[in-house]
Amino acid sequence: MLSKIITEGNIQKAEKLINKYDKIIIVTHTSPDGDALGSSLGLYHFLTEYGKQVNVIVPNDFPDFLRWMPGANEIIIADQNFDLTTEVFDASELIFFLDFNILKRIEQLEPLVRKSKAKKILIDHHLDPENFCDIMISHPEIASTGELIFRFICRMGLFEYVNKSCAECIYTGMMMDTGAFTYNSNSPSIYYIISELLLKGIDKDAIYSRIYCKFSVRKLRMQGYILYKKMEIFRNYKTALLSLSYEEHQQFKSQKGDTEGFVNLPLTIDNIVFSAFIREEKDIVRISLRSRGNFPTNQFANEVFGGGGHLNASGGEFNGKLEEALRLFEEALPRYKHLLI
Ligand code: 5GP
Ligand code: MN
Repeated sequence: MLSKIITEGNIQKAEKLINKYDKIIIVTHTSPDGDALGSSLGLYHFLTEYGKQVNVIVPNDFPDFLRWMPGANEIIIADQNFDLTTEVFDASELIFFLDFNILKRIEQLEPLVRKSKAKKILIDHHLDPENFCDIMISHPEIASTGELIFRFICRMGLFEYVNKSCAECIYTGMMMDTGAFTYNSNSPSIYYIISELLLKGIDKDAIYSRIYCKFSVRKLRMQGYILYKKMEIFRNYKTALLSLSYEEHQQFKSQKGDTEGFVNLPLTIDNIVFSAFIREEKDIVRISLRSRGNFPTNQFANEVFGGGGHLNASGGEFNGKLEEALRLFEEALPRYKHLLI
């Protein structure tokens, strides 16, 4: 049996809204990752099976390796079809917000949310959520929003409406926010849930391959390049830093998703506990941070770059030159020495 994490009050209130309203939308964050899409499509399949009219809306497109997910082709991509997005928003009676904590993370959708009269439910696992929903199901102690969706459905007693597609999407979210169950994944309930999903017919080995064995030759070559030429090791701080300039992105003709996962690679080095990947995009420099153990990357992200995230995985943005961001990173390291070694 699963322990009860979501409060009874929240379950009852949410169930009432689901039963009352038919036109439902599900919104997740900009540059949606596996957990954002997995949890959103998981909830989408459940609600559809339950007889609701459901749309998933994302602010912008997602990487190709997530396109196999059942329902992915039905997703409305706001920056490619803003008229349809507005129309669906205006018609919606109930909106779910999944896998993000502050409205800033849905960018151009924020004004639509602020003016919408629909009832709103947040289901998320990021710290310090902005209080913008009628029901706030916020559980930072849970590893993935996918897991929260499973718990949400089960607690309503509606597990029979979880079909194979729903189970595949939930599993994908759980897998991707734990690095295929290699971090943040010691909770026994994760494996109880996986066994339930297996009973729904998912092929977990195939899902792993669909996500992690989808590299293009271009991506693998970029990975080789970045590890060989662009990785700095700060042994005194048990830290590694990867970087990539905009020119290098262009040299490799890199595409969306190509650099995904690079930040995790240095953590396979013995005695490296903190890894950063700082890359220059067309108009902005993006920072991804990862750690093993207790180093609070989210504190670093927040204090150094005004970003945020989870303890072991966080990020931020920097308005300026790549070199400045790299310098900022290096200069900050000594201030975190006591947390690193
Ligand atoms: P990634 O490195 O995959 O882009 O981001 C990892 C995690 O860091 C995300 O799931 C999100 O929680 C957080 N994150 C990334 N970028 C930002 C940012 O600019 N601001 C905040 N608050 N969190 C971010
Ligand atoms: Mn997540």
